[in-house]
Amino acid sequence: MRVEQLGNGEPELAIVAAIHGDEPGGVEAIERLLTDGTNVERPVKLIVANEKALEAGERYLDADLNRAFDENVPEDAHERELARQLADAVQGCTVLSLHSTQSSARPFAISPGLDDATRAIVPQLSVAALVRTGLDVEGRLFATDATIIEVETGYQRSVEAAENAYRIALEFLTATGALPGYTVSTDLSVYDLGEPVEKPPADEYEVFAENFTHVDAGETYAAADGEGLTAQEGFYPVLFSAYGYENIFGYTGSFAGTLQTTEDGTATLTAD
Ligand SMILES: [Zn+2]
Repeated sequence: MRVEQLGNGEPELAIVAAIHGDEPGGVEAIERLLTDGTNVERPVKLIVANEKALEAGERYLDADLNRAFDENVPEDAHERELARQLADAVQGCTVLSLHSTQSSARPFAISPGLDDATRAIVPQLSVAALVRTGLDVEGRLFATDATIIEVETGYQRSVEAAENAYRIALEFLTATGALPGYTVSTDLSVYDLGEPVEKPPADEYEVFAENFTHVDAGETYAAADGEGLTAQEGFYPVLFSAYGYENIFGYTGSFAGTLQTTEDGTATLTAD
């Protein structure tokens, strides 16, 4: 794990990249922050988490690091010790964790809930939506003693994902007062993460549903070996892709409301 710092003092802010080794966009953003002369007014930790997986071009070596923050991962797994070190490094911090995906070109944020920091910061990031996972965080970075905002910045290994990661990192640093200047708060759609959607056994998969675009009951949202799969009930697809996960297409989501920020900076979730 590589830990760098911008500014002097004990950081209360951190930006984390390469939780997954096959998502180099966030690492490029961190390299740029380290070399472009960014002058921070608050100290910030910059962390490249799974350097070994990054080097190997793999998501992980022994276990998914974003499921390794609990006791269910074998002690001898590389990611078990790494999870301990990363939990230590971000303890007490407000953290932007940069990811990329096979499911969506448009950046979106993921957080366990809507605490004050999340409400204040996420509407200032250029993201299309916020997905709330709920507090059952299954060994994710969310389980650590820190405020975590994850952002999926675009397609894995794309130039756009790296560009988006850098822009969103600057927005995060501005929103938290580490960089001078202003950001714009936009109204943000919030979705609650539902159940995983299982893939039936097949050799080839297709996905027709688009993330955050409602799938109606009866609509064909995907196919397995050319056989269409039809929704029993309506849902919003979240993190959907043909091959991003081994056993699931993604998750069902439900619309929770719109996070609206008033002029005094207070953000309220209104159902509409
Ligand atoms: Zn990831």
